[in-house]
Amino acid sequence: MAVRGPASRLSEEELLADYPFLPGAEAVLGGEPLSVRELLEAPGYDRVRAIGRARVLAAQDDPRGETGVAELPAARPDERYLSFLFARLVLAAAPSPAALRRWAVAESKRAHERLRKAAGDELEEVARRLEYTFASEGGRVRVPVAEYVRLATPIREAEFRLARQELSAGSVSVAPVRASRLLEEAVRRTLAVPPPLSPETTRAVREREAELLEEVARRLPAPTARAGGPAGPVRRELFPPCIRRMQRTLEKGENLSHAGRFGLAAFLHRAGASFESIVDAYRGAPDFDESVTRYQVEHITSRDGGRGYEPPECDTLRSHGLCARDGDPDAADPADRARDPRCFEPTLKHPLQYYRRRGGAPVEAPDGPASVPGAPGTSGGRERTPSTVRRG
Ligand code: SF4
Repeated sequence: MAVRGPASRLSEEELLADYPFLPGAEAVLGGEPLSVRELLEAPGYDRVRAIGRARVLAAQDDPRGETGVAELPAARPDERYLSFLFARLVLAAAPSPAALRRWAVAESKRAHERLRKAAGDELEEVARRLEYTFASEGGRVRVPVAEYVRLATPIREAEFRLARQELSAGSVSVAPVRASRLLEEAVRRTLAVPPPLSPETTRAVREREAELLEEVARRLPAPTARAGGPAGPVRRELFPPCIRRMQRTLEKGENLSHAGRFGLAAFLHRAGASFESIVDAYRGAPDFDESVTRYQVEHITSRDGGRGYEPPECDTLRSHGLCARDGDPDAADPADRARDPRCFEPTLKHPLQYYRRRGGAPVEAPDGPASVPGAPGTSGGRERTPSTVRRG
């Protein structure tokens, strides 16, 4: 079947296999109905499930999507589509939403690899099916301003800021490679939302794929103590509301500002987290790049003979909109949704003070205003901040 309209030169089957998130992609099955139970259990779908599991695990190891899934290029279009469906189903049933969001980043980058090499009509067609109105014109792509803002806001590279764009007649004109990056964001958003599953389906998936889900949980990064360090174990449950919210933001695959990224790395370092666990804290970032993150975390933590940059104090975090003492209405944990009275104590000036007062043991913990490290002001904004430069 051929794609309608301007993309008629494209193979519909190949298009749907490579962009299995598009509405109507089930057409690649040729109208054959398939139940969740069959997808989970039927022997005829063993290979599909094996590829799906590989897609899930590759994403947990490398959400940049650069770790290939060996079986994928040789798989038939229907197998590519079904393995995608299987992976999405399993991750929608996973206890931690972080796994699905990580996979959403990896799959959107996989789509981006094809999109950035694609002709204008393919970009336009994929955008149209995702309900965006990109229009190719003279080697450029026009994107309505409202759509541009929606897609570019979570992208951190400065060149995506609206102020730097060519605007004309309510549209932004971008190079095709930039349009493909915007579509990558559209795909990530689509996939980061779990499909609704009934309790019975969730239970069935968890039972059938218990081993895979255990492996996923094992591979998900989590802050750990600096091994053998003088500060003892890092106690995440004692972190102040601002730091906990920054971590949740990244774990949900959402964007965190430059100031937040800097503040988080500087805090975790002083709280005694290992270098690796600080890098891990950024893995859920929608634009995570391992080598750039490592470089930036190294930069923040190695200053001053390994003491690292001073984490921002409360006033600075507040001025960046990062203080969460009034509670976070989006948090799942009721404790995180509530106002935290400790943060309203007049002598509290610094997140490390908060941590120490609750029984955490930062490496160099202030326990009163006199010993609070001088606030770095907005140095977080000046300094390189963990992570995010992406390709394209
Ligand atoms: S008062 Fe300070 S420690 Fe508490 S949430 Fe705000 S910035 Fe963080």
